[in-house]
Amino acid sequence: LTRREEFYIVILGLDNAGKTTLLERIKSIFLGVLGLSPDRIAPTVGLNIGKIDVNRSRLNFWDLGGQRELHGIWEKYYSECHAIIFVVDSTDKERIEECKETFEVEGVPVLMLANKQDLPNSLKVEEIKEVFNKIALKLGARDSRVLPISALEGEGVREAIDWLCLRLQ
Ligand code: GDP
Repeated sequence: LTRREEFYIVILGLDNAGKTTLLERIKSIFLGVLGLSPDRIAPTVGLNIGKIDVNRSRLNFWDLGGQRELHGIWEKYYSECHAIIFVVDSTDKERIEECKETFEVEGVPVLMLANKQDLPNSLKVEEIKEVFNKIALKLGARDSRVLPISALEGEGVREAIDWLCLRLQ
């Protein structure tokens, strides 16, 4: 019996991007439980955590919330994580640019999730890629990818976690 490899993944994004919904969706897909119905989830205020086992890995997710006042506590988690998931609200065109200022990465894989793709007015993943590929390059991410998801409907979430697992091996 081999010990599971343990990985820590930080979930970042502005408030309302869908971080809480994503974490609940990950739990519902991999653990078969849905803690809260997505329409009843309050915006993230502190730290939400989730733990799932995939193949031989144990993935620990830290949702650090998106509020500006809390950015100070992010640093501590950055320094210890193996990957970063950055969630964007694809319908929030103005604030996608603002996201640039909110995160720093160094040498870890970054998965950018273009969330809310179920909504008709969402930016297409190609448009979000243009913005983010530049940021990732500038910030020195080891490996990065932009993937479309709907955390609410679950579309693309399993594929996103699969991508992460491959990077964490
Ligand atoms: P957080 O502040 O980043 O944790 O965002 P929440 O998870 O609380 O989501 C903010 C709002 O967006 C809530 O009303 C969610 O139901 C909604 N939401 C999250 N993900 C999606 C999605 O994929 N599609 C749609 N249509 N709404 C979403």
